[in-house]
Amino acid sequence: MLRHRGCGSSAVDADGATTEGPGGSKEVHLGGHAHNGQSRRRPSDLEWRKEAVEEDGDGTENCSSPVEEEPKTPDEGFMGLTPLLQAHHAMEKMEEFVHKVWEGRWRVIPHDVLPEWLKDNEFLQHGHRPPMPSFRACFRSIFRIHTETGNIWTHLLGCLFFLCLGIMYMFRSNMYFAAPFQEKIVIGIFFIGAILCLSFSWLFHTVYCHSEGVSRVFSKLDYSGIAFLIMGSFVPWLYYSFYCSPNPRLIYLIVVCILGVSAIIVSQCDFFAKPQYRGVRAGVFVGLGLSGVVPTLHFVITEGLLRATTMGQMGWLLLMATLYIAGAAIYAARIPERFFPGKCDIWFHSHQLFHILVVAGAFVHFHGVSNLQAFRYAAGAGCEVDNAL
Ligand SMILES: [Zn+2]
Repeated sequence: MLRHRGCGSSAVDADGATTEGPGGSKEVHLGGHAHNGQSRRRPSDLEWRKEAVEEDGDGTENCSSPVEEEPKTPDEGFMGLTPLLQAHHAMEKMEEFVHKVWEGRWRVIPHDVLPEWLKDNEFLQHGHRPPMPSFRACFRSIFRIHTETGNIWTHLLGCLFFLCLGIMYMFRSNMYFAAPFQEKIVIGIFFIGAILCLSFSWLFHTVYCHSEGVSRVFSKLDYSGIAFLIMGSFVPWLYYSFYCSPNPRLIYLIVVCILGVSAIIVSQCDFFAKPQYRGVRAGVFVGLGLSGVVPTLHFVITEGLLRATTMGQMGWLLLMATLYIAGAAIYAARIPERFFPGKCDIWFHSHQLFHILVVAGAFVHFHGVSNLQAFRYAAGAGCEVDNAL
């Protein structure tokens, strides 16, 4: 039997072949099981984990030269050890694996050798991170090229952008507001929703490969963040749109909070994160956002389409809805990688496009709310009979 030096006692039947993946990422093919796995068994979880980290710091493999295995006596072989020694040996191997991951010595791997809990999108064929049970390694992977790099950075930069914008807005002079205290609170709620959504998202994409448990917890936070963004977006919009109609404003606010909390509760179910529920997830959050159609129609009916259009309400609402719905559709349909499997593994796959459209949609919302705020400033804080807005 051929064994690779340095690959430990797991007896991986690996041919150690490496190829250059998209974006220059290097990946390992494990013994051909990924492509012609008829004759070879799949490696165990520990085996392929070891393969994914068996690399020297300079990128050279340290188990690339197969050597003839020397026959072992029962005393030397792993199976010949007492259960206690076997456990000790396994612990040592696991420590070695964790240490290598800790040092950032890992390579991207193909989709079909990922464990089930990391398999999400089979159209992204190469360039995946292996499971890395170390938060330090996960956070260091932010600076490496793999399938999640774009997902992380789109929302990390978006989060920093909204954080800066929010701080600037909060320090804006009160002389530009009709009711500064109230207005800064309601617009601040929007910023909190956006920052929570984007930060939960980039954190989830960063630690997604840590372990099944960590991935599950952060995916729930990620979905909850979307509900926070939608609820937070409604607050200033309802505040300004129904400025002089507090009763409908309160009712719509309560309804969107009930719907948002319901979406968060559904997000806590384990089934919700499964790949086959991708469409359901998109539908839940699009439905939550589209609940805004009712107050929009109310506004148009009571104020008139002309007034709504004059205030710029209709234009930005339509643009924002288009961005969010397009994002959700691309996410659910997995476009474009569906049509080009393996070609969008690193850049321009559906999840990145969805992330960019979410940031763009949130910015359009902020722009629209700023328009409403300027309109309220011009109209003054009071409510007159002919100024029902
Ligand atoms: Zn995401």
